[in-house]
Amino acid sequence: MSRAVDVLFERISVLSPDESGGAYALTDAYVAVRAGRIACVGLTRDHAAAAFDGAPHETYDGRDRILAPALANAHGHAAMTLMRNSADDLSLHDWLYNVIFPRETRLRAEDVRAGTRLALVEMVRSGTGAAADMYFFPDEVFEAFVEAGVRLNLCVDAKKKDAAGNPVLDAAELERFQRLARTAGRGLVVPSLLVHSVYLYPEPLYKEMADLAADLGAPVQVHVSETRREVRECQEKHGRTPPEFLRERGFFRTPTLAAHCVHLHGDDLRILAGPGITVAHNPQSNLKLGSGIADVHAMVRAGLRVALGTDGAASNNNLDLFRELRLAAFLAKGTTGEAATLGAPMALRMATVHGAAGMGFPDVGVLEAGHAADLLVLDCERASMTPLGDPMSAFVYSADASAVESVMVDGRWVMRKRELTTLDEERIRAEALSAAHHLVPALT
Ligand SMILES: [Zn+2]
Repeated sequence: MSRAVDVLFERISVLSPDESGGAYALTDAYVAVRAGRIACVGLTRDHAAAAFDGAPHETYDGRDRILAPALANAHGHAAMTLMRNSADDLSLHDWLYNVIFPRETRLRAEDVRAGTRLALVEMVRSGTGAAADMYFFPDEVFEAFVEAGVRLNLCVDAKKKDAAGNPVLDAAELERFQRLARTAGRGLVVPSLLVHSVYLYPEPLYKEMADLAADLGAPVQVHVSETRREVRECQEKHGRTPPEFLRERGFFRTPTLAAHCVHLHGDDLRILAGPGITVAHNPQSNLKLGSGIADVHAMVRAGLRVALGTDGAASNNNLDLFRELRLAAFLAKGTTGEAATLGAPMALRMATVHGAAGMGFPDVGVLEAGHAADLLVLDCERASMTPLGDPMSAFVYSADASAVESVMVDGRWVMRKRELTTLDEERIRAEALSAAHHLVPALT
C-alpha cells in the first residue's frame, strides 16, 4: 500500500455528487487533499492552499483534466476474470450450471488470488476505487484488495457441512472477518454475509442466515430477481417473489446489496425502497445473459438507491464501469422513450456515491470538504473529448476507461499518471494466465 499524500489540484474541472441528492460541476477549480481527506474545493489557489501547513507534497496540473470521485462497483465476482471469454452466448442457467460451476470445483486459493489481482488491475485502470465482491477464498480476496489499497465489501460464506453433509451456519467465520477488517483491513474492508440467491440453499437456512446477519450487524450481498425463471420458480415454490421471500425470512434488517432486480412485481419496489438497501444494476451482464432490462427509471422514482455493477468478467466480459454508466443512462432513455430520463447527474451518482454508501463507506463518493479522498482524474486531451463542453456530459457520455489517468483511494495513489503504484501488472497477468489454464484441463 502506498502512503497518503497531500496534493493540491490546480485549475481542474471538478465533478461530483453533492450532499443534497444532486451533483455539481466546477471549472478552473482548486482542490486540496490532506491526510486522506478532501480539505477544500474552491475557485482560488490561495483559498485551497491555506488548507496546508506549508506546501503540499505535490501539485497536480489540472488543465484539460476532470476530477471526480473514484467509481464504485457494487456487484462483482473479481476472480471470474479467469473465465473471461470462455463461456459466452449461453443463458444464465446453462452458463452457470454447465460451464461455471464445473470450473469452480477446480479453484484453488492461489487461483482466486491471481484472478482477483487481475481484476484489480483492470478496475483501477478504469477508475474504480471500491468494489463489492462475492466469491470463494475470502482470505485471498481480502489480502489482494488491501495490498492494492482498494476498498472492498467482502462476502463471507457462513455455511459449513455437518456430519451428514448438510449445510449448517457457523458464525465464527464471519466474526473472524469482522475482527480482521478492524485490524488488517485499515478501514478499507466491510465484511458481509454471502447469500448467493433464493434458489441455491435449503429453505430453512434462509431464516437462520437472516438472523445471523442481524445478530452480527453484518451487511448482506444477494442476487435478487435476476431472471424470469428465478422469479417464476420462487413463486411456484414459496408463493412469493424473491424480495417478498427474503423479507419474510427476516432479511433487510442490515444494509443489503441486492444485485440485478431485473424482474420486479407487486410489492417488490416498496420492499426494496427500505432503509439500507442498495440495488446493484448490472446492465451489461443482464443483456449479455439475456436476462432482461431492469426498470431503473421506476426504481429511482420509487426512491430506491440504485448503484452500478459489472458482475463477473465471465458474463460481461470486462470490469469497466464507464461502459455500465453510459449504457445504464441509454437503456433508461430507450425504454421510457424520454431523453430526459436518467440524466447525467443521476448516472454519476449511481456510479459513485450510491455504490460507495451501499458498500458501507458513507464518507466516500462526494468531493466536498471533510469527505474521504477517493477520486479519479480523467485526461481530456484527446480527440474523443474535444471540445470538452459540459464536463458532466463528457464524464457520462464521452469518457471511457482509456481516459483515466490517476486514481486515489483514502488519500493514497493507486494509479498516478497511468503508473500503477501498488500492483505489478506484468507479473499479475502472467500468474492469472497460468491460473486460468489450471481451471480448464483441456488447455493445460
Ligand atoms: Zn453476480
